[in-house]
Amino acid sequence: MKHRKIVREFLLFACFLILVLLAAGISLKSRPVAGFAILWLPNALVLGLWVRFPQLVSRYALLGAACGYLGADVWFQTPSVVTFIFACGNLASIGTAYMLLMRLSAAERRLVGITAVLKIFAVTLVASAVGGAASAFASYFYLGIKPFAGWSYWFVTDAVNYVTILPALLALPRSFRPFQRRFRQMARDFRVRQYRRVLPLLSLVAVGSAGLMIGGPGAITFPLPVLLWCAVTYDVFTVACLTLVFGVWAQWAVATDIFLPKPQQSTRAYLTLSLHLGIAFIAVCPNILVAVISSHRALLVKYQALASRDSLSGLLNRRSFFGRGQLLRAASIEKGAPISLLMIDIDNFKSINDGHGHLAGDEAIRCIARTIEARTRSDDVIARIGGEEFAILSSGLNHAELDEHAERIRKASEDLEIVVDGARFSVTVSIGAIYNPDRSIDIDRMIRRADEALYRAKQTGRNRVVVLTL
Ligand code: GH3
Ligand code: MG
Ligand code: MG
Repeated sequence: MKHRKIVREFLLFACFLILVLLAAGISLKSRPVAGFAILWLPNALVLGLWVRFPQLVSRYALLGAACGYLGADVWFQTPSVVTFIFACGNLASIGTAYMLLMRLSAAERRLVGITAVLKIFAVTLVASAVGGAASAFASYFYLGIKPFAGWSYWFVTDAVNYVTILPALLALPRSFRPFQRRFRQMARDFRVRQYRRVLPLLSLVAVGSAGLMIGGPGAITFPLPVLLWCAVTYDVFTVACLTLVFGVWAQWAVATDIFLPKPQQSTRAYLTLSLHLGIAFIAVCPNILVAVISSHRALLVKYQALASRDSLSGLLNRRSFFGRGQLLRAASIEKGAPISLLMIDIDNFKSINDGHGHLAGDEAIRCIARTIEARTRSDDVIARIGGEEFAILSSGLNHAELDEHAERIRKASEDLEIVVDGARFSVTVSIGAIYNPDRSIDIDRMIRRADEALYRAKQTGRNRVVVLTL
């Protein structure tokens, strides 16, 4: 057991040492600006792995990472005190971000939730600022650079790398199977010339290439609209990976001066052209986003309306009856108005189904629903709460008005002629009503009491109204 633990700790030490050494080595190879690397991969990599897989966090992994930072700087022959201070800065940056990220919810750490990405962004800014303090110190005492300049180089580089690399690691799926399936699906779509799902990806390659060819400061914005398109097409992990690709593309283009005009291109006309294109690519983004969000909002409203209605009668369903009923009851209490509930049940409905068929039964339900609806006020809450049972919650009717209202519905139902496939028949309804002048009891209890009234109406011969007062 103990033996296994030692092997595990040693592996963690070795893996993080190699990871940091390689990542820092590659980063230090990138063109230095005033002695600082433009690309700084190790912090985001180590942080992402630790947050996504907390089982990898251990003293030995930390030691491995620390040795990796020192080793990389020694490899690139930075003075030794500075090496030590920079390693402390990197570990402070990772440690700050780790502690703050672990305070977010597990869902937020996986980029789920409206503000998750913003919170992670804020954390990385704080962490980069903390790490930058080490750089400011080293710059001032050992490198002959102004502390603020040292701090800002570190801050910007660290923040950019966190923002581009971290999301892909945090969104790393537990299993790649759904991802493989989607990839295969995309390949198949591509073969059969169905480009809907691959088009955003292809467009990203196209605008990225156009950006590199046209160059100039505006070119950095070219992929923005397509990244938004990808964001509304693909899943979180894919989008995080594409953002990472964008980050690498943009940082590489910065490092190779693609966004900076070459001397012979440095004309006002060229810069204006590049910047104007940039403006166009930025300006289109909010409109893309708002179009997508508003069409989603419209869909949501449509589905909410569908989910609150009963498909056969078009009336509210049982669930929404309770929701809307609570609102009406609250308004009645506020106004001091009496509240009443009618329970309407079609008489001998089984015999209609048996005698005329189930479709005729459905038509009877529809006709009774329309009859009830035509005889109620717009602020009444009307629902089909069971097979052939309806409920109406009304506010402001006095006892006599309630009696009259119920009687009108009973009479209209009796007079109704239902025609299905040439066959004509009629139905009657029984109504149990509850009059609640002081609004003292809740809707559940009102329904139970109205059921009792309805039962009495059935017992005393059907096709009648029984009103009880609470
Ligand atoms: P009562 O006068 O005592 O109310 O008798 P009833 O036959 O109307 O009452 P019961 O509750 O026994 O029967 C209701 C029937 O309504 C049973 C069920 O098959 C039928 N039913 C429920 N939902 C639907 C529906 O959506 N369409 C049709 N056609 N029938 C339905
Ligand atoms: Mg019935
Ligand atoms: Mg019934």
